[in-house]
Amino acid sequence: MINKGTGWDIEKVRRDFPILREQVYGKPLTYLDNAATTQKPQIVIDTLTQYYAKENANIHRGIFCLSEQATKRYKSARHKVQGFLHAASDQEIIFVRGTTEAINLVAHCYGKTFLKPGDEVLIPHMEHHSNIVPWQILAEQNGIKLKVAPINDQGELMMEEFVKLLTDRVKFVSVVHVSNALGTVNSVKEIVRLAHAKGIPVLVDGAQAVAHTSVDVQDLGCDFYAFSGHKLLGPTGVGVLYGRKELLEKMPPYQGGGDMIRSVSFEKTVYNDLPYKFEAGTPHIAGVIGLGAAIDYISGIGLDRIEVHEQELLKYGTKKLLEVPGLRIIGTAKQKSAILSFVLGEAHAHDIGTILDRQGIAIRAGHHCAMPVMQRFKVPATTRASLAFYNTVEEIDRMVAALHEVTEVFQ
Ligand code: PMP
Repeated sequence: MINKGTGWDIEKVRRDFPILREQVYGKPLTYLDNAATTQKPQIVIDTLTQYYAKENANIHRGIFCLSEQATKRYKSARHKVQGFLHAASDQEIIFVRGTTEAINLVAHCYGKTFLKPGDEVLIPHMEHHSNIVPWQILAEQNGIKLKVAPINDQGELMMEEFVKLLTDRVKFVSVVHVSNALGTVNSVKEIVRLAHAKGIPVLVDGAQAVAHTSVDVQDLGCDFYAFSGHKLLGPTGVGVLYGRKELLEKMPPYQGGGDMIRSVSFEKTVYNDLPYKFEAGTPHIAGVIGLGAAIDYISGIGLDRIEVHEQELLKYGTKKLLEVPGLRIIGTAKQKSAILSFVLGEAHAHDIGTILDRQGIAIRAGHHCAMPVMQRFKVPATTRASLAFYNTVEEIDRMVAALHEVTEVFQ
């Protein structure tokens, strides 16, 4: 059926994802854990198979046909990421293992070099552990201080408090674009504007944003932007760090090894140009090429249409969930992505997850690697449905019907 808002046929879109035809316990798979990882379209799977079956060779090394071809495809994927993020140059695109590695790279290379003992790094209270712990490690090793900006009961960053905390001692701001635990969309552009007014660089964790809204790093004005391929229909083990050239050039390398050098002798080693300076060793070539295919695919679908569809699902899902007796949604920000985190009466999230699993419904139960968010809302865990553009109203109905059954079990 053609959707009026998006103009596409959701059943046709779903046919691109072979896993969506699978059954679990004899029930159709209802996959609602897209914040953990997204499913892969056939074209991404085929690209990976094709690479390993017919094109496998190391890059930047061989003078033979296959190696040149692999190098070309690797380079072309970098160019695709540049276009996808609207970065000024493909030298600003560094391939890493994922969001976690990208943030650790910045904490390590920028933090250890440019932050001094007593300098502060400011983060909002809603961050994923991967945007907390690298800064805590830096605090232990380099004596910097981690400062946390509070969030309100809706799960929104309290901007007035954030501004108050943005003192002269703050030398770095790191902020999530979209919270994986709450769905909150942060006003990143405004945060960057405020920080830059004081000369403070900003890193944006885009793990939950890139598959749901279009991102323009130049428009946002951020200094670093991180995301993972596997949350963008691509393979695991590959991700991207965008960094402004001027900063990347000043930063020392992350790891030493092959490819990141121009020349090596025991007396002196000269590092390679960007982006290679930050890509030591053989990278995840297949993953990068697969990520390129994922970007082509999602761009073909269109992030504008994806946003329309997912916002429709969010609105519908929110309404239906609130009809379940005793259900409370955690994360009710005005600007919200299609993430539905909730608690249900006395039922534990893991029990809810298990009951739903038996019906083929995959949702997440736990702290979502955001324990401080759970502490803020005084809950041990939440159950979370996180939606993607291939999800349907029928799948939400299936989840909600199962939740009504949960309430009967726990009455
Ligand atoms: N940040 C956010 C907001 C996330 O949701 C995640 C993944 N759950 C990460 C960072 C870490 O991503 P990865 O495990 O792919 O490195």
